[in-house]
Amino acid sequence: MSFSSAILIRWTQAARPQLEPESTLLALLNEVSSDSPKLVDDPLKSPRPAVPRAESWQSPLAKQCKDLDQRVRRRLEAIRKRLEQDREEISIDASNYGKRYRLDPWKQPIDPKPRLVVLHETSNTLSSAINTFKTYHPNDNDQVSYHTLIGRSGEVVDVVDPFMRAYGAGYSAFLGEWAVTNPEFMGSVNNFALHLSLETPADGYIGGRTHSGYTSEQYDALAVVLDEWMSQFGIPPEAITTHEHVDLGGERGDPRSFDWGELQVRLAALKRLC
Ligand SMILES: [Zn+2]
Repeated sequence: MSFSSAILIRWTQAARPQLEPESTLLALLNEVSSDSPKLVDDPLKSPRPAVPRAESWQSPLAKQCKDLDQRVRRRLEAIRKRLEQDREEISIDASNYGKRYRLDPWKQPIDPKPRLVVLHETSNTLSSAINTFKTYHPNDNDQVSYHTLIGRSGEVVDVVDPFMRAYGAGYSAFLGEWAVTNPEFMGSVNNFALHLSLETPADGYIGGRTHSGYTSEQYDALAVVLDEWMSQFGIPPEAITTHEHVDLGGERGDPRSFDWGELQVRLAALKRLC
């Protein structure tokens, strides 16, 4: 059983008729999230870092209510059905992910609800990414994970439960918002982000600014996974962004050669852009 279905089942069990889906979701998140990370000993010696300047994000996805491609919709519905049976779930080393927090180390409230999707690429093969996540990383700087991976043939591998915090981005922010969860580091979007990574084509392993891009099967699976997250967490299309955009260190350019037009057609067909 995938943990998405585990969550849906728990969600159903937890649901009471008087609860709105939103409050049910929050109740569930409260169950699995944690009050706070390690608190700072002396807030005067370790002050809370200033929030970064807000960078605007112009989503390449456009509003689209007409000219929806019914053929694409039928194809994606079939893939959604297939993925209900055929979605791999792996377990990774516990050093590479954690709980979402409701307080920061200075006891200030932070919202753990997933409300941003960050797209990435693996930079190498799917299996090398999985090996990295399964490796114990005692050093905070090496800890890494995404919630979900999508391979070249459109295979979907669930890595971290969406209710948990994947370590997909380091120093990062979205629209000037971040969460500091470790007083030794600057903030990141991880506490409120869902991270999804596309397997890089072989000609992208050696670096460079571009490569041959992603397969049609990857865009199909991506649209199906995004559709599910948008529905489950109420995430709007404007909150789907890239690692390149949220990165504040200026080192990340992924996912390289991502074609937003391919995503536009598919999310429009699923009526997510109207
Ligand atoms: Zn990335």
